[in-house]
Amino acid sequence: MRTMIIGAGIGVLTAAIALRQAGLEVAIFERTAELREIGAGLVLSANARKALGKLGLPARSSVRARQPPPSSYVPGEERCS
Ligand SMILES: Cc1cc2nc3c(=O)[nH]c(=O)nc-3n(C[C@H](O)[C@H](O)[C@H](O)COP(=O)(O)OP(=O)(O)OC[C@H]3O[C@@H](n4cnc5c(N)ncnc54)[C@H](O)[C@@H]3O)c2cc1C
Repeated sequence: MRTMIIGAGIGVLTAAIALRQAGLEVAIFERTAELREIGAGLVLSANARKALGKLGLPARSSVRARQPPPSSYVPGEERCS
């Protein structure tokens, strides 16, 4: 079966890998002319790392991957504008 996927973000690329592993032919269409970095990095939650692991992709897929520092939630005053 041939599948067409729109967009080349991490979500869709992960889906494309899963579909290809399931035996489907996948074509990806991305509207931007070039892929580039935005933001400070990409935080992968535990569930995302589990999903990548099931596809055979290492949880730390890059030597640039880092464990984020522990964070905490501090309740503050709610503001409405
Ligand atoms: C400015 C900015 C900074 C960020 N910084 C961080 C950060 O520091 N850390 C972090 O964890 N997350 C950050 N994020 C969030 C992170 O980018 C997203 O959570 C993540 O990329 C979402 O992945 P995705 O695959 O769902 O979608 P996306 O990465 O948005 O991918 C969707 C892709 O589909 C393409 N597309 C959409 N419509 C079409 C169409 N009609 N035809 C063809 N292609 C199409 C888009 O061009 C895009 O490439 C940031 C987001 C932004 C906007």
